Amino acid sequence: MVAKILRGCLCAAIPAVMLGGCWRATKDWKMAYRVDKIKLDEKIYPSVIVGGGVGGLTSAIYLAQARCTPLVLEGNTPGGALAKSHSVRNWPGVKDAPGAVIVDTLREHALGSGAELVAKDLVSADFSLWPFAIKIKDLLSGTESTIRTLSCIISTGAIPNYLGIPGERGQDGYWGRGVTNCAICDGSLYKDKTVAIVGGGDSAIVETDYLASIARTVHVLVRKDAFKASGEVKDRVLARPNVNVHFNTVVKRIEGDGTRVTNVILTDVITGSESSLPIDGLFLAIGSRPNSWMFKDQIDLDPEGYITLVRDQQTSQPGVFAIGDVSDRVYRQAITAAGEGSRAALQTLDFLRAIGFQPGPAMAGSSAPSTSARNTIPGPEAIKETSGERSNVSQSSENQAPVIESAPVVAPAADEPVKQVTDANAFRAELKSLTMPAVVDFFATWCMPCKMMHPIYEEVAKQFAGRVAFYRVNVDEVKDLSGEYSIQGIPTFIFISKSGSEMSRAVGATDRDDLAEQVEALLR
Ligand code: NDP
Repeated sequence: MVAKILRGCLCAAIPAVMLGGCWRATKDWKMAYRVDKIKLDEKIYPSVIVGGGVGGLTSAIYLAQARCTPLVLEGNTPGGALAKSHSVRNWPGVKDAPGAVIVDTLREHALGSGAELVAKDLVSADFSLWPFAIKIKDLLSGTESTIRTLSCIISTGAIPNYLGIPGERGQDGYWGRGVTNCAICDGSLYKDKTVAIVGGGDSAIVETDYLASIARTVHVLVRKDAFKASGEVKDRVLARPNVNVHFNTVVKRIEGDGTRVTNVILTDVITGSESSLPIDGLFLAIGSRPNSWMFKDQIDLDPEGYITLVRDQQTSQPGVFAIGDVSDRVYRQAITAAGEGSRAALQTLDFLRAIGFQPGPAMAGSSAPSTSARNTIPGPEAIKETSGERSNVSQSSENQAPVIESAPVVAPAADEPVKQVTDANAFRAELKSLTMPAVVDFFATWCMPCKMMHPIYEEVAKQFAGRVAFYRVNVDEVKDLSGEYSIQGIPTFIFISKSGSEMSRAVGATDRDDLAEQVEALLR
């Protein structure tokens, strides 16, 4: 222990080195972490929140209102898991609303309180230094940089599980071509079709409810003889006439015609018999695992990867807190994540007080948040004023996809990097006369990952301007093209050669570098 304190004192004796990272984190943090021993400036944040789900946004509101302006790294999934739910019925004070509505309200609340929300992702964190060093990647420019922070709240949620069976992913798999884990994103593409859902938990029930309003038939494939989910909603959903439950059933293999899924091979785990079930789409709702891998050498994790908490939301590292699905193996509800978000914020404030921090103008985030950062995800500017209330999401009727109002479809200005397709024939004709490769983004206005990809797509389009043509197709408005290109998940990016043939496609949100790499491949 003496050695640890000494190490801290030695570092403290080297003035300018402090910000260079000599200050080693130590268990004797009250002695080691002192803001009067470092130079607070605009390069250091009081707190960085990694993840922009309901937990992270709640922390952001609390911290911003306490004038400890946090930076929220929203990453690839702004709004987190809740944004994927079409119908949330257990958010207190809200009887039933799309998750995207709740998330948008929270984002506005956090921004209005002064938090800084950015489309940046965590690359790595070094908690052995203090102020902690967080390497981040800008999802628009692809550039990496390192920021410093006095404290950190980890709210990175969970990563969905996969079945790990033939036909699911990989080169010969049907991921994005009929297999998906996002009903809210892809459900509308299965109108009057036959789909199957794998899983027996709450997610499977919620997604069955949603899909049963769209698809002709929904098969629910449950590996045990009972659902894990319980309650009134489950009973009501399973009573719907177009829902068929198959207990004791596992999916052995996914089959298709090379372009799209046609059927799944099922095994009855009691009899061992196999059968083929014809389907158009397969939705996975088989749980998730904590998204903690990037912290594994920094803080204690349990054997399953959940972040270990030592006191309330505090991790094994003083000044670092964890909330929501990344540390909660039991409750994993939106409202428990939000509750933990407030606890983590209060603990952060205690921590900041203990190290002598006074909220003030010298630090990063203490001025108004930069609009360039906060507006990277289309939000308030796409808001439609309705009866004096601001909402950019509406729901036309129960169990229909939430509709996020978009800017009207307009003829693109000549200098716009992405052309919005409004007419299928005109698009086909334009493609024939093209003298360069093209990329088409199939999106929907109610799809959160699509919203997130819009600015990234535009950035990439600018990068390749004059060499590659970029288009955008709203799947709800130009249905012919969605059918023609067999769009089964959104967003889908189709990469088209100069001669007009499809070279490759990418389904789902991705980062700027990945998208740019695939565009670059068109030019080789
Ligand atoms: P869960 O872990 O609760 O359930 C996963 C389900 O998938 C289980 O039925 C499990 O089967 C099944 N499963 C797992 N792996 C496989 C596999 N390889 N093949 C077939 N089936 C498999 O995950 P959820 O996403 O449903 O829920 C996560 C958390 O979020 C829960 O705490 C839940 O309560 C919460 N939630 C709450 C909602 C709400 O509205 N209140 C909505 C959605 C989620 P088995 O039962 O055999 O283990």
